[in-house]
Amino acid sequence: MIPRVLTVAGSDSGGGAGVQADLKTMLALGVHGMSVLTAVTAQNSTGVQGAWELPVEAVRAQYRSVVDDIGVQAVKTGMLASAELVEAVAELISGTDAPAVVDPVGVSKHGDPLLAASALDSVRTKLLPVATVATPNLDEVAQLTGVRVRSEDDLRRAAAAVLEFGPRWVLIKGGHLTGDAVDLLTDGSEEHLLRAPRHDNRHTHGTGCTLASAVACGLARGRTVPEAVAAAKEYVTGAIAAGFALGAGIGPVDHGW
Ligand code: PLP
Repeated sequence: MIPRVLTVAGSDSGGGAGVQADLKTMLALGVHGMSVLTAVTAQNSTGVQGAWELPVEAVRAQYRSVVDDIGVQAVKTGMLASAELVEAVAELISGTDAPAVVDPVGVSKHGDPLLAASALDSVRTKLLPVATVATPNLDEVAQLTGVRVRSEDDLRRAAAAVLEFGPRWVLIKGGHLTGDAVDLLTDGSEEHLLRAPRHDNRHTHGTGCTLASAVACGLARGRTVPEAVAAAKEYVTGAIAAGFALGAGIGPVDHGW
């Protein structure tokens, strides 16, 4: 049977990030993609013009509909907006027998908040403990742990600080450092440094959503976390290289490369 992957995330009306990027990634990687919407954003290449979260009952109901009938081989979470939604989703995931990729989305590339500051503690204490892999970028790491990463060595300190919250693995995305795009994947004993040449392309909207979804697709196929992450990194590197201009601002990564 085709692997089934569920994204629990927000809608990006511009189609570059969020649920739209997740479903495109799942289609490209040959799994059946499903979505639980947590929030709706009015968004385009220039930023987020508005955001509205869904009621917790609507999120729970979507999740139950999908999991109880269709079943899932992996879950991915993205924008969760509020403490209430973070806690409800953490509880749903902990009752589901499938690996969970948690992208602890905090702020968009344009600086628009996608998570309330009051929800950070719920991410630390409820969501990260149920994650198979957490995939924070450097801004999210700083918000969650206070560790500011400026070098490859700092990546290790940051990873250790995230692992304290209880995810099985952490993938720290060092893409905002200078030089090669270096990510660190570790479970506290094994360490994998993933390097990719930096593409001089500003059209990178949706990068984080795409990477986390690609990891979930690999896990749904029964790959190990290091295998799934290595394949996902390759996929997102191609998608960034093919990112294209749309609108007046930052265009999306391309899933059709
Ligand atoms: N909008 C939504 C709904 C998202 O989930 C995300 C990221 O996870 C973004 C926007 C931000 O995307 P980016 O930082 O790639 O611009």
